[in-house]
Amino acid sequence: MRRKLAAGNWKMNGTGAELAEVRTICDTHQGAGVEILLCPPATLLHRLSEAASSAIATGGQDCHKAENGAHTGDISAGMLADAGASYVILGHSERREDHEETDQDVREKARAALAAGLKVVICVGETLEERDAANTLDIIAGQLAGSIPDAVTGDTLVIAYEPIWAIGTGKIPTLDQIGEVHDFIRSRLEQRFGSGVGRSARILYGGSVKPGNAAEIFGVSNVDGALVGGASLKATDFSPIIEALEKA
Ligand code: PEP
Repeated sequence: MRRKLAAGNWKMNGTGAELAEVRTICDTHQGAGVEILLCPPATLLHRLSEAASSAIATGGQDCHKAENGAHTGDISAGMLADAGASYVILGHSERREDHEETDQDVREKARAALAAGLKVVICVGETLEERDAANTLDIIAGQLAGSIPDAVTGDTLVIAYEPIWAIGTGKIPTLDQIGEVHDFIRSRLEQRFGSGVGRSARILYGGSVKPGNAAEIFGVSNVDGALVGGASLKATDFSPIIEALEKA
């Protein structure tokens, strides 16, 4: 049985004032039947990890591939762990675009994260042009093959399928399109890692998940939860998504 995961990606949003949202989420979802993860900006990670106690896991939004050294402005996986993180998001499309991160970069960062004891949420997804050209599955196959290191286990690997055109736009693929990609990812993981890892790694959907569409998305096969951007910033939006996942 895969433990369902409701993950929030705060991106470059949130200061100390937003910790009140975290306390509300913790109070509301003590003993939740699903795992809850919040990935705040690095400046909040330690405070949020303390505020979240054991009710919520925390994660970084990126890490460097090196353990330490002359990399001004970067943060290592070990530093994220030291600040209380147990996860790190890697290869988000905004990082692939803003920082020109390649699949190889993502794989090297993931190796470093695993070595530091973190679980990895590796993001994959196609552009609208790629979908319109019927290239979605080829793009996803390439990103999976290139971005996931060999050292993952069923417990440490989470894949987030995030169609780039659905992120922050209010548009989502049809449920059939989500199901097609999630089933495809599951079969690729089983092919490469065998049924143990392949069946126990979780696959999240991400891209404009909201309280109003969460339940139908969570009903799709091989959707084990969501990576949520905008709607994870407010407890009033994130809580109904968590509740929908609990009921799924
Ligand atoms: C994201 O950036 O990971 C994301 C899914 O954003 P949103 O939910 O705002 O579309």
